[in-house]
Amino acid sequence: MRIAVIGGGPAGMTAAYEISRQLGQEVDTLDLFEKSDRVGGLSKSMDLWGQRVDLGPHRFFSHDARINSLWLEVVQGHYEIVDRQTRIYYKKKFFDYPIRPFNALRGLGLLEAARCLLSYMKERIAPTRDTSTFEGWVTSRFGQRLYRIFFKTYSEKLWGIPCTELDSDFAAQRIKKLSLLEAIKNAFFQGMKNKHATLVDQFAYPTGGTGSVYESMQAMIESRGGQILVGTGVERVITVNGKVISLQLENGEIRKYDHIVSSMPISLLVEKLPEVPPSVADHAKSLKFRNTILVYLRVERTDLFTDQWLYIHEKSLQMGRVTNFRNWVSQIYRDSASTILCMEYWCYFEDELWSLDAESMISLAMEEIAQTGLVDREDVTEGHVERLPRCYPVYFRGYREIMKPVETYLSSIAHLHVIGRYGAYKYNNQDHSILMGMLAAENILKGTRHDLWAINTDYEVYQEASVITKTGLMINKP
Ligand SMILES: Cc1cc2nc3c(=O)[nH]c(=O)nc-3n(C[C@H](O)[C@H](O)[C@H](O)COP(=O)(O)OP(=O)(O)OC[C@H]3O[C@@H](n4cnc5c(N)ncnc54)[C@H](O)[C@@H]3O)c2cc1C
Repeated sequence: MRIAVIGGGPAGMTAAYEISRQLGQEVDTLDLFEKSDRVGGLSKSMDLWGQRVDLGPHRFFSHDARINSLWLEVVQGHYEIVDRQTRIYYKKKFFDYPIRPFNALRGLGLLEAARCLLSYMKERIAPTRDTSTFEGWVTSRFGQRLYRIFFKTYSEKLWGIPCTELDSDFAAQRIKKLSLLEAIKNAFFQGMKNKHATLVDQFAYPTGGTGSVYESMQAMIESRGGQILVGTGVERVITVNGKVISLQLENGEIRKYDHIVSSMPISLLVEKLPEVPPSVADHAKSLKFRNTILVYLRVERTDLFTDQWLYIHEKSLQMGRVTNFRNWVSQIYRDSASTILCMEYWCYFEDELWSLDAESMISLAMEEIAQTGLVDREDVTEGHVERLPRCYPVYFRGYREIMKPVETYLSSIAHLHVIGRYGAYKYNNQDHSILMGMLAAENILKGTRHDLWAINTDYEVYQEASVITKTGLMINKP
């Protein structure tokens, strides 16, 4: 059996890692093609100014024992447990995120807090009827006023569309079942056994940076005889009579395979499939992706703020999030006396921001970080820019109907396995992409029929629930 994997992010690397266990037995050839010069995808790490950084904040978290066991197997003890601190920066004040009612009350002041409570009570008496949009969904759980303060501005910055145009899937997957009432209960019963997913306040972080997980996978895949071809983009997948037969690389070379696992952007995959019906191609074309520009700043101080990252809700600032790499693990900043901050800017291809040159982006970031009062401009000595095209699949209203025929068509192609964040148009975190990779490998090797489209940020742990602790995996007994 000859297997190709497209993309060396968490999804593709995990699929190849799992398949490589069978190399020499059921599998003769295993090739992974990665377009960029290194593995890790959006979860890669890189060296910058003598320190190690990720592409924005990357907190690994899962309840699923299968995912956590795999992560621990790869990381081999090289991780630390980090106490999470993340806050919202709004009107020159900091609010805990996830929101904690007493902290929010203190920050907002009595009058505003009373208004928020009234608006929440109004919601309980006359609930918002349409909860299919992000606005409706959040308002129904927090009330209109809290929604406006803590959710609206940030979400509209991130997605670039009004919250009334955003599908509630985004909220349902990321905020889950949390409501103001549950947040209040949590505030009173901190030590509760089944803490809500968004209130988890510790996470495991690899001491070599997030990307070291996928670098270790690469070494293990190669040691078992698999090939990782970095700097090798795939142009298109070739099918004959509804079955995968080969793929064409960007350099024109054609290679034959029995199975192809794809985590390349779904719209680009579909566009170039030779037998795709025009209506399916049109649907895939109308999927939307949001881009990110990351601006790294080197600041000659070590005591800027204590959060791993901050959410920036100020409307007047274009940036959406600031990561402080000094507050993860000491192994990544080493003995440096400077701090690396990373500021996130979100845009579409057609936005002016996307075509701004690096120098202008760095100036904008310096100006904005100085405006927050968190950093003095004269302490910033260097800047660096990274661009991440298509890194957020946009859950606009109606996207599910558009995805349906695309999913159905791709599922009908024999021996094609579509996984990943932009690969499958799912707003995945690493754990979801890892699970997709694991199950795609199982489908190929064991002939199982896991529905890979069903795995997304909303999936429930249906096997053992677990958590990674300092000493390894802890299974949560039901
Ligand atoms: C700013 C930011 C913060 C995030 N924070 C977190 C977090 O805190 N926790 C968390 O768990 N997750 C986080 N994520 C999400 C996480 O990065 C992704 O879920 C994960 O990397 C997705 O893995 P993937 O393999 O599905 O896709 P990707 O990581 O996007 O990998 C896809 C790979 O395919 C390659 N590729 C594309 N086209 C081709 C082609 N034609 N040929 C060959 N190769 C190709 C790309 O170069 C890339 O390496 C964050 C993402 C971003 C952008």
